[in-house]
Amino acid sequence: MSSHEICPRCGVRPIEISEPDHTTEPPTTLRVCRPCFDEIMHKRLEAFVRQSGKQLEDAFQQTGSRLPPELSGEAMVRSFIDGSFERGLDEATRQRIEQWRAAIAKIVEQLKSELPGAHSNPEFEARFVARVEQWRNEHPELS
Ligand SMILES: [Zn+2]
Repeated sequence: MSSHEICPRCGVRPIEISEPDHTTEPPTTLRVCRPCFDEIMHKRLEAFVRQSGKQLEDAFQQTGSRLPPELSGEAMVRSFIDGSFERGLDEATRQRIEQWRAAIAKIVEQLKSELPGAHSNPEFEARFVARVEQWRNEHPELS
């Protein structure tokens, strides 16, 4: 894929990337150079981590539950992504986090298949909170 077009974002480097951009509606194509692409993706990831970390904390708070004290919602989301967060934690904590993570991932998958529009469905949050609460009641040893 070679192109002599100049990246519209930095106006300097040639376009190297031409990837479908699924984060916008309707789908567009993101045409930028590699450094700009990496920067855009990094910013999106950071925004996603902050936003969903906050949502996760809110969801836990609404259930009256608490995240493990060594975890912020943001750190938990980050750990979902790169797995790096668990390094340095003791084995028991890592297992507990892993169980929480698996349970939450499963709940999200279930809700995605149940609710049209998944996260954008207005019922998503309430159901998510209810499911987390239910799971927590079934696993009091992990609260
Ligand atoms: Zn660029």
